[in-house]
Amino acid sequence: SQQFIMGPKVEAFEKAVCDYTGSPHAIGVSSGTDALLIVLMALGIGPGDAVITTPFTFFGTAGSIARTGAVPVFVDIDERTYNISPAALRRYLEGCRLTPEGRPVSPGGQVIRALMPVHLFGLCAEMDEIAAIAKEYKLPVIEDAAQALGAVYPSKTGPKQAGAIGDFGCYSFFPSKNLGAFGDGGMVVCRDAAMADTIRALRNHGGERRYYHRMIGGNFRLDALQAAVLNLKLPHLDSWSAGRQRNAALYRKEFANGGVDQIVTLPHEPYAGSGMQNHHTFNQFCIRAPRRDELIKVLEAKQIGHAIYYPLPLHLQECFAYLGYRQGDFPVAERAATEILALPIYPELTPDQIAEVAAAIRDFYC
Ligand SMILES: *Cc1c(COP(=O)(O)O)cnc(C)c1O
Repeated sequence: SQQFIMGPKVEAFEKAVCDYTGSPHAIGVSSGTDALLIVLMALGIGPGDAVITTPFTFFGTAGSIARTGAVPVFVDIDERTYNISPAALRRYLEGCRLTPEGRPVSPGGQVIRALMPVHLFGLCAEMDEIAAIAKEYKLPVIEDAAQALGAVYPSKTGPKQAGAIGDFGCYSFFPSKNLGAFGDGGMVVCRDAAMADTIRALRNHGGERRYYHRMIGGNFRLDALQAAVLNLKLPHLDSWSAGRQRNAALYRKEFANGGVDQIVTLPHEPYAGSGMQNHHTFNQFCIRAPRRDELIKVLEAKQIGHAIYYPLPLHLQECFAYLGYRQGDFPVAERAATEILALPIYPELTPDQIAEVAAAIRDFYC
């Protein structure tokens, strides 16, 4: 058709994501990072503002906040889920002074404008608690669901799809995500029709009418080729997630053998009792491994794939030195960064391969 960018394939994919997630509006964009950025732009967040997020996430989460001119404010994570701790979030906000309109202000003097929880590794953050805090402080919730399309959160008000719980949800179709494109791609979902219109305009330089600009946007458009690929792949997402869950269960069984599960910490599945199939979609299967860096040498020698998500928490990144954080500020995230280790989990992995990975780790410890 020679329609390389946007057009009917993108519209069809947006509709498919609406149907899949139960979101009223979906806007295809150029990447997961741009999805986060465009939402912040649509909210008018910029210099003088702050957005609260987790220090234990992919760089793009906090990078998008900083790129608007706002300040990323970090609060520590939960030891077991690796997601932002609602208790730490509440503690932080209770320590903030409020503007006359009741908006919390950071100690640095920035007005807190939004919460950006991340559903890390395919497990939803504790959204009921986060939503209650957001409501109390009148803050919009932007879910970074880049790793969690398809994950279901058992809310007190019924099961909800990751990204469709808060005010905005952001997905990534980077090839390593559970739904990967043949290149970069992303999506915003939201509830509010006016916000959806603003985001749609911002995606194409902010012009609602061609060559007339009320706002400054950017080139955040999605390629039709990526949308065509994603349209074909989306119907398989749940079966791929089931494959990842099957593999996770196999690892659990293998690690019980010889008591390795007493030495390494396996992923926590807090919503396993919810009856929801996709309570964890295992974009990554991360264990906590004592003497991790020695173990990695063994895995390397045996050519077993592995990765560290993430070796350095965001508050300690060089580019964020100006924020003034120090080692020790977020001990839970810092400890996780020294022990975390991702093992192969992709759906096509065979039981023999899982046994081989587990055996290599068992031999190392036992
Ligand atoms: C991958 C990822 C992003 C960024 O998505 P891109 O499509 O790579 O820009 C943002 N946040 C998290 C948590 C991610 O895993």
